Amino acid sequence: MRTIGLLGGMSWESTAEYYRLLNEGARERLGGLHSAPIVLASVDFAEVEQLQVAGRWGDAAALLADRARGVEAAGADLLLICTNTMHKVAEEVQAAVAIPLLHIADATATAVRRANLTRVGLLGTAFTMEQAFYRDRLANHGLQVLVPDDAERALVHRVIYDELCVGEIRQESRAAYRQVVGNLVERGAEGVILGCTEVELLLRQEDSDVPLFATTRLHVQAALDAAG
Ligand code: GLU
Repeated sequence: MRTIGLLGGMSWESTAEYYRLLNEGARERLGGLHSAPIVLASVDFAEVEQLQVAGRWGDAAALLADRARGVEAAGADLLLICTNTMHKVAEEVQAAVAIPLLHIADATATAVRRANLTRVGLLGTAFTMEQAFYRDRLANHGLQVLVPDDAERALVHRVIYDELCVGEIRQESRAAYRQVVGNLVERGAEGVILGCTEVELLLRQEDSDVPLFATTRLHVQAALDAAG
């Protein structure tokens, strides 16, 4: 199996899931004591979040590009950015290394298309739900993307940063997210993308009548397929 490079810590709550799922996947595929060869660079998320809020995406890109070079030098054969939001700087990160970057939105859109769906809801940070970098990437795969309304987007964003990224899983937030998903379905969503790597810690398939596309799991599957 080839070595999987991870840019993590954004937040570490979901990076821990990446680590567990990659190793479980390697054991399933190879059996016995096999586990996944991984090189991880884990950043201080407080630093990254400050850059996000200040709109200093160039500095965030430079930080992640630097860590990506380190991961490549340590022997990684392919690279994952373990967050949807920071794919805003995916191009700059890819340009910094020779190894391929597996884009989380490509892995997700491929799964949506395989399920024969085209109209999907998107939950994530405000950056992911509102900016072009993510929605356009999905649209390039032929997907039509619906996002929650203003108040719901603010709620979804707040729960990610104030609760999920600090390890808090609250029943009332699960109920609120279920409502947001229900409203997307009423507006015509055939499925919903959990476009934040922590959201699948809160919401499960049983919380929805339509298929949920969990980006952490789908990204991990794509990495395992690529790593052979
Ligand atoms: N992990 C989250 C995501 O998938 C949010 C944290 C971040 O801003 O990177 O977008």
